[in-house]
Amino acid sequence: MTEQPDKSVILPFPGPRTRPAKAPAPPRNLGLTPLSKALGPVALSPKGHWCDRCEGIWYSHFGEARCPVCGSKS
Ligand SMILES: [Zn+2]
Repeated sequence: MTEQPDKSVILPFPGPRTRPAKAPAPPRNLGLTPLSKALGPVALSPKGHWCDRCEGIWYSHFGEARCPVCGSKS
């Protein structure tokens, strides 16, 4: 057997991880629609819908298409 250099050596990461200066803001949670709130707690998880105007996500158990915050249709 010949001696070989261990190739599985883990090299230390060069310096601390730098975060990008412009991190995108996390989307706002606009909450459930009134209709879904009226339903009460259910086993199914609500569907998230993106709202361009609020730049956030609202949730509904139904096939609603209107943001509960600004009323915009997406
Ligand atoms: Zn909205």
